Amino acid sequence: MENVCGWIAQAGDTPQRSRLEGAQKADWLVIGAGITGLSAALTLAELHPQARIAVVDRQRAAQGASARNSGFVVAHEHPAGDELIGAQGFAGFETDTMIARAANEEVRQRIARHAIECDWRDSGYFFAVSDPAKLSQVDAKLATLRALGARAELLQGQALQQRLGTPHYLAAIWCGNGNALLQPAKYVKGLLDAVPDNVTVFESSDITGLERLGHGRLRANGPGGSVEAARVLVCLNAFVPRVGIDDSATFPMELSASLTRPLTDQEYRAIGAVEPWGVLSTRPLGATVRLTPDRRVMIRNTAEYRTRDLSGREIAERRRHHVRGLQRRFPFLGEQDIRYTWTGHLSATRSGQAYFERVQEGVFAVAGCNGSGVARGTLWGRLLAELASGVDSPLLRTVMQRAQPGWLPPRPFFDIGARLRVRMEAVRARTEI
Ligand SMILES: Cc1cc2nc3c(=O)[nH]c(=O)nc-3n(C[C@H](O)[C@H](O)[C@H](O)COP(=O)(O)OP(=O)(O)OC[C@H]3O[C@@H](n4cnc5c(N)ncnc54)[C@H](O)[C@@H]3O)c2cc1C
Repeated sequence: MENVCGWIAQAGDTPQRSRLEGAQKADWLVIGAGITGLSAALTLAELHPQARIAVVDRQRAAQGASARNSGFVVAHEHPAGDELIGAQGFAGFETDTMIARAANEEVRQRIARHAIECDWRDSGYFFAVSDPAKLSQVDAKLATLRALGARAELLQGQALQQRLGTPHYLAAIWCGNGNALLQPAKYVKGLLDAVPDNVTVFESSDITGLERLGHGRLRANGPGGSVEAARVLVCLNAFVPRVGIDDSATFPMELSASLTRPLTDQEYRAIGAVEPWGVLSTRPLGATVRLTPDRRVMIRNTAEYRTRDLSGREIAERRRHHVRGLQRRFPFLGEQDIRYTWTGHLSATRSGQAYFERVQEGVFAVAGCNGSGVARGTLWGRLLAELASGVDSPLLRTVMQRAQPGWLPPRPFFDIGARLRVRMEAVRARTEI
């Protein structure tokens, strides 16, 4: 089965950019043209309008995870039990929420500054469950979210069904005042289209290593060519080890999603002609589901720790899993109604916090989005560019203080532990897929 991202297919074509060939020189090099790398490149171009800035991506620019995600622009996360008001982890949750709200604001500003058309919806989203036991401590969660500036309300039964058009979910916290939805491929394409003339983007150009040259400059090498630069920003997300950064304590997760055809007028009326919505699970491995503005249903209900990418046959199996999830919510939808199925990689850490580092003289890197990289990646890209440019701020310092990804055991122990953990989480989320 082909791996075709529905968001990318609907975002429209971008002109092909050249491959990296020969020995190129630049003042700044950004490796990775996703949300983070493009946000970094845009910030560098704003800070250094006369500088030559190169961006390199191993595939088409703006078509990695940044285009393949579910489009939740996170300002407020679902708080865990130990993050509730009065609990030990509340102070950390408060700081992370402050960062997430700043990240969310960064997305809004980028969209406004570059007039990006990306189906932006500022109407919040739902933390919803089909098993009410999976939404515990509701009052404390509502109080926690509200204390940190969110609007939050509990919806149950009929009231919830009227918002979502399916009786599948029995309870939800709707959370607004920040949380938003967008079409991810359109958003990241908008960032790419916004890069000014002093930024050169090279596509389909793998960087395989970084080398320090005698006079302090750096060279990024690939099979077809190289870029020499004074400073390098590594924005590779799940692929950060590919340029030799092996101690980031991040690990890759491969996720898969499907997008259906638009609902017919009759189907849409039958579900109550509800407004577009987004649902996040309260369990890490539960389904993420959206009803899009053009009335399609998107479901993402697999996430795996893997060392090899999913094959076509394995993607077909994941699609059958998506169908099961769809039918639990909308029984009239079947495999024949799916138009696109795709995969994407995100970068996770044990602590849930990012890796954000000055790796060595002139090399700066960020990874570990932990599934919230639409907003965080946009902010991190800017902050990484500022760090590399010597621009300090309280927000940058707070982000760097929080960036403690935690320790990972060496492989193969990590592989065994990660697979067991994912399997255990899948069992815990089985009512929510
Ligand atoms: C299915 C799915 C659903 C998700 N849902 C959400 C969501 O709803 N909300 C949210 O906030 N986040 C979500 N995420 C996470 C989000 O997509 C990421 O956090 C975000 O895209 C990270 O952006 P990035 O620019 O750091 O990484 P990427 O978009 O992964 O960009 C890294 C780039 O590096 C390139 N690259 C890799 N290796 C090399 C190399 N050797 N040389 C040159 N270039 C290289 C890749 O081609 C890629 O384009 C989801 C992720 C997935 C996969």
